[in-house]
Amino acid sequence: MSNQKKVGKLIVIVAPSGTGKSTMIKRLKEDFPSIVESVSYTTRPIRPGEVDGKSYFFITREEFLAMRDKNEFLEWAEVHNNFYGTSKKFVEDSLASGKNLLFDLDVQGTDSMKDYFGEKANVIFISPPSVEELEKRLKHRGTENTQVINIRLMNAQKELLRKNDFDFLIYNDDIENAYKKLCEITQEILGY
Ligand code: ADP
Ligand code: 5GP
Repeated sequence: MSNQKKVGKLIVIVAPSGTGKSTMIKRLKEDFPSIVESVSYTTRPIRPGEVDGKSYFFITREEFLAMRDKNEFLEWAEVHNNFYGTSKKFVEDSLASGKNLLFDLDVQGTDSMKDYFGEKANVIFISPPSVEELEKRLKHRGTENTQVINIRLMNAQKELLRKNDFDFLIYNDDIENAYKKLCEITQEILGY
């Protein structure tokens, strides 16, 4: 029997808000049960349908800043006027037990992961077909008001400038085609 410890894979998914990232991640976790998602901490308000501790850990700004000051985040960023952070303890414990980890991060968090893990972080950028379509999707989702949607669309234009900077790029035009591509890339990363 080999004494070598199993090493888990790291997958980072990055996409402008409204692209379809959460929809695809939900399916991916069902189809690849070996993948564990890192649950981030955030100060943004909870949306209908979200579960505290499952979608995110929803905390106040004061709680977030206290965790940040205690160095409890592997990375953290201010995104669309809210704070988001990845738990250092969760990542360290998961990696120590050889789990495959999935992160849903913005571009700043993705850059931090690349700085920290280098080639071990497999980054998949998901692009919407256009900013106009993104606006339609955000309005149709109906979880944010117009002001928040506008902030997210402005940030999307900046994030889209980075779409060619990562390991894999998928266009989510047709959801079935995009999801098939995501499964193929995931299989490649996991070495199936
Ligand atoms: P994100 O997590 O990237 O912010 P969501 O997964 O919440 O985005 O998707 C935003 C909205 O767009 C949801 O209402 C979702 O059902 C819809 N959506 C996702 N992919 C597509 C697609 N290919 N075509 C049309 N609508 C889509
Ligand atoms: P949302 O509010 O739509 O759930 O997420 C907004 C943005 O924050 C998305 O781009 C999402 O990927 C990103 N995000 C979620 N969790 C984290 C995190 O822990 N760190 C960073 N840097 N970004 C995050």
